[in-house]
Amino acid sequence: MSQPDHIIRTTCRGCHGVCQVLVHMENQRVVKVAGDPESPTSRGYICPKGAAAPEILYHKDRLTHPLRRAGGRGENKWERVSWDQAITEMAERFDRVRRESGTEYLAVAQGTGRPYTEFTNRFAAAFGTPNFLSPGHNCFLPRVIASTITAGVLPIADIYGFGGKMPACVMNWGCNHAETGASDGMCGAMFKRAFVQAEKKIVVDPRRIGLAEKADHWLQLKPGSECALALAMMNVIIGEGLYDREFVEKYGFGFDRLARHVQLFTPEWAGPITLVSPSSIREAARTFATTRPACIQWGNGIDTSTNAFQTARAMLILMGITGNIDVPGGNVFWVPPRGIRSGLHKLRGKEEGGSLSAEKKAAVIDGRRFPFTPDCHVPTFWKSMITGEPYRTRAIWIVGSNPLLTATEGLTIERALKDYMEYTVVSDLFMTPTAQLADLVLPAAHWLEQDDIAFMHEVWCAMTRKKLAQIGEARDDKDVILEVAHRLGLNDAFLWPDLHAYLDWVCEGTGMRFEEFKEKDLVMGEMRYRKHEEQGFGTPSGKFEFYSTIMEHEGRPPLPVYVEPPVSPTEDYPLILMTGTKGLYYFHSELHQIDSLRKRRPDPVVQINPETAAGLGISDGDWVWVESPHGRVKLKAKLFDGIAVDVVNAEHGWWYPEASPPEYRWKESCANLLFGGDLFDPDTGAEPLKCYVCRVLRPTSSSAHTAE
Ligand code: SF4
Repeated sequence: MSQPDHIIRTTCRGCHGVCQVLVHMENQRVVKVAGDPESPTSRGYICPKGAAAPEILYHKDRLTHPLRRAGGRGENKWERVSWDQAITEMAERFDRVRRESGTEYLAVAQGTGRPYTEFTNRFAAAFGTPNFLSPGHNCFLPRVIASTITAGVLPIADIYGFGGKMPACVMNWGCNHAETGASDGMCGAMFKRAFVQAEKKIVVDPRRIGLAEKADHWLQLKPGSECALALAMMNVIIGEGLYDREFVEKYGFGFDRLARHVQLFTPEWAGPITLVSPSSIREAARTFATTRPACIQWGNGIDTSTNAFQTARAMLILMGITGNIDVPGGNVFWVPPRGIRSGLHKLRGKEEGGSLSAEKKAAVIDGRRFPFTPDCHVPTFWKSMITGEPYRTRAIWIVGSNPLLTATEGLTIERALKDYMEYTVVSDLFMTPTAQLADLVLPAAHWLEQDDIAFMHEVWCAMTRKKLAQIGEARDDKDVILEVAHRLGLNDAFLWPDLHAYLDWVCEGTGMRFEEFKEKDLVMGEMRYRKHEEQGFGTPSGKFEFYSTIMEHEGRPPLPVYVEPPVSPTEDYPLILMTGTKGLYYFHSELHQIDSLRKRRPDPVVQINPETAAGLGISDGDWVWVESPHGRVKLKAKLFDGIAVDVVNAEHGWWYPEASPPEYRWKESCANLLFGGDLFDPDTGAEPLKCYVCRVLRPTSSSAHTAE
């Protein structure tokens, strides 16, 4: 193999991780992306998605020019237009909506948190629309907001040992990033390292994930019963006096009320609910409380139930009563590097006050139905497009998102975009089933085509990303948003003439301009612990709130309450349906056209217990129908004895990019089509993606069509 001309250090953005990588260049072409062994964030780790970056970058199907619809919606007829034409058209259309109907008649939607996140939020706020859509209600936001009202900020498992101690006990709960790569600004490989070396290991998961094989306690709970388990663990810890008296007395708020509240929630109470034996609950609770320091690594499994917010609160309280908050090896509040501007809290109007506070003037479509979700509730939004209640948005800009597949009610979204939305713009790397319904499609830049400062999760470091390639006319989404904002006169919120001026502004406080910052690769904060001893917590009481004053104020339960999933298995639908669990090769609906990844995971799978499968006459590798009260999809059975006999786990986000446009057979295997209706967490609007019901049928069964 030939030698690279040079190797450049940069930061991957294939998912939500913090992996620093070495990019091998040959004749100005990216030929390889490898993990950087000297990276303090990822120590050489790279996952298959990151390693496939050159294949993604140069893929023949990349969008390379702006495309305007030239036929009927969804007819796949397009004409190439220039960027100037595209941006002029967008600015005119958005301005017309603003003048004729009001700012709320434009919606802005984004996919998972990516470099564009800061600008999509900023653009929506500056334009004055409260109708900003993100998947946050089902991912991360329930944990972030619960943390904010309980402790002031999100606590993170202290897996790097900056304080001279690694966690002695790690409880991994509803998270599998040790196997799938990364999440929430954390590197899965670094977490795995901390887990393996911990003295005591606890895994809470309905599936026997890889970490469960190494665990001292694997609590295979029933999906949707997480809050009940956490309450029972509190019952043991408080009842047996294993809590941290000094922390709860000095720094806690409402501990006595909590102690009384959990008296009823014994392991015997939780046993039949969680399907974890009372003795296992007791043992795990004792281990967690008595092995210090201990941390909880949580994940998306917490966010995807109709009890999500209360569950997150309960888990925070477990961290608090055991005194593991902001101590070395516990759950800590990272100290970000000095002088870096970023973070979503600044994008809601706190920095540029007047110009961004316009969003308050217009009524959000969801009517603030869920008190603890800052964004417009996605399912409510799409429903409003059909019903026209309370009003029907006229235009939408969808950035980095494929909601037909990645949101629930995909058929409703399809109808809304086809029949009701007057003007849709989609920015993406590839054509997708959603982009096919747009009026204008914009080619987005891959992370190897972006200069950036990676700091979205505000962890303990900020890293540089370097533009190393240019494919066609693909443009950084931020750059496009900046220009559209300027055309619309939103200069107060978009202060910078161009993206480099913005990046200079982001790192201004470090005394460096971006070009200089870029050479640093990474800047770190100076970690400090036990900050509450000096400054308290950022809550109304200044304490760690076991009893939440904000919840009380909102008329919601101030102490965590378990509420069972809204739908239980029946004779017709006897199995519990989980979906949304991440994989190693794809990121939601992304990357299914990448050959090297597709070879390793060619088909969408549903994990099913061998005993259950045998009863249904299903063998490993059979195509099966998974049917819920809401829909039916075709998936391939994967027999797995690490899942309970009454639970199945269906992969989400599947479509077939190799199939014909405009649909690419997306309706065939998209597991999100199995969900819908009005089943939401009352606090955040989270959906029961991991605790719904279904049945699985062999293709030859009477109600199943031919599956091949
Ligand atoms: S885990 Fe995420 S950030 Fe890390 S290499 Fe993989 S895709 Fe990139």
